[in-house]
Amino acid sequence: MFKKISERKIYSRLIMAVLITMLLAGSVLASGHVQSDNPKYVFFLIGDGMASSQATLAEYYNQFENLEEPNHSYEEHGESFIDMTTEEHSDRLMMHRLDFAGSTRTAGSFTLVPGSAQTATSLATGIKTDRNTISLDVNDNPVKSVLMAAKEKGMATGLVSTARITHATPAAFASNVPDRGMENEIAAQYLENKIDYLAGGGARHFLASSNENSKRKDDRNLFEEFANEGYEVFESSADTAAFRDYMPMAGDRVLYTPTMSHVSYEIDRVNKLVPSIAEMTQKGIDLLSQDDDGFFMMVEGGRIDHAAHDNDVAATIHDTLAFDDAVKTAYKFYLEHPNETLIIVAGDHETGGLGLNSCEGMEYDYFMDLGPIRDIKVSIEEGFEYTGDRAQVYTDLKEDFGIEKLNDREKEMLENAMDLQDAEGSGANVMDFGGYWPQASWISPVQSTIAHITSKRSEIGWTSSAHTGQIIPIRSHGAGAARYNDSMDNTDVANITAELLDVELN
Ligand SMILES: [Zn+2]
Repeated sequence: MFKKISERKIYSRLIMAVLITMLLAGSVLASGHVQSDNPKYVFFLIGDGMASSQATLAEYYNQFENLEEPNHSYEEHGESFIDMTTEEHSDRLMMHRLDFAGSTRTAGSFTLVPGSAQTATSLATGIKTDRNTISLDVNDNPVKSVLMAAKEKGMATGLVSTARITHATPAAFASNVPDRGMENEIAAQYLENKIDYLAGGGARHFLASSNENSKRKDDRNLFEEFANEGYEVFESSADTAAFRDYMPMAGDRVLYTPTMSHVSYEIDRVNKLVPSIAEMTQKGIDLLSQDDDGFFMMVEGGRIDHAAHDNDVAATIHDTLAFDDAVKTAYKFYLEHPNETLIIVAGDHETGGLGLNSCEGMEYDYFMDLGPIRDIKVSIEEGFEYTGDRAQVYTDLKEDFGIEKLNDREKEMLENAMDLQDAEGSGANVMDFGGYWPQASWISPVQSTIAHITSKRSEIGWTSSAHTGQIIPIRSHGAGAARYNDSMDNTDVANITAELLDVELN
């Protein structure tokens, strides 16, 4: 039977429709402008190996450093050396002052504890893949990254890293290879893909094989090829002054590789002729922001991960703080373009199983002592080496690590490590003498032992020399940033970003 809608119902629906329209129009008028959800400028900053523990430790250390009278003494002051009762912490990390915070699951295709190629592929392309794969799916089909999709849309693109620029994280945004070790191919694909701005370590993958430092297997000189394609090329630290003086013009393309391999750890870099990650980010802004279609720039704090693999507490902190300076650089740009800029600050996975307090056995303490970290002047991997001269080790401990005297237990650990290294070389592992702590494969038993002595003095613990599988935070700010305020998978980050940019990934 035909059911007649009453006139009264039609009338009330009409009124509702008019009211809704008025409400929508009113909210637009009231705000004066529409906060766009479609960003024109995108910063995708990734702290490699950075989870909440790395960022928390760096923030506490930063606050501790900024105290007028920092006090080292745990005996006197215990854990009370940062006043947490005040509302304002202007010395909080920039990443912790952004508007939105969410979380990302990091597991890979068939692994709970992921690799960097895997997580970078997920963050860049929105799919899960195998541990060492760069932007190919599990059936080896290439997948498009959000950076490449942004490029097809006309946006300018940039990659910055403190690791080699051909390392896994940047690679996933602008290349497709079955193994992350194919860094020569990755470098060549950057040229094919015409990435507008490339700044980071890894000159060895661009040099012709005739150069003794080259890692290339062919005779291609990529520096020459980039230059022939119109790139401004700055190929070594000797070009750093020229890089700094260079004023980018609209449409320029730039390749800058100040180091053969990774850029030095921040704690060591400050004495060298290599710009900081923030400075490399700023130069990228100077160039890419001249494009009328906007830009997509990925910035990686690549060595937080390496420092955490080494279980090197000071190097981890300083690289995290340097990464946060790059976040600040992005934020300054946001302040000039608040309605059009999106900042995403992610980690890819946790490294080291970093624990903020490492009491053992029958101890029952609740504290960290950040004081001893202030006295560390070098990274353990690059700034310290055991050459067989034991007296020198004790001098280095004093001068570079601020350790005047070892206690009996520390001394036994160190002497055991030196015995082992004398007998079996730097490739030996501390487990060979019963050392119970993790040791990264590329550092020596003595280096690893110093890493654990210095960490333990601050009550910092490490459960691993590799990655761990925890869920990690993501922060965001600006146009579309609210979309990341969620409990997500790392693949969601790429997919949401693609939606905001109105581009298709695959
Ligand atoms: Zn990683």
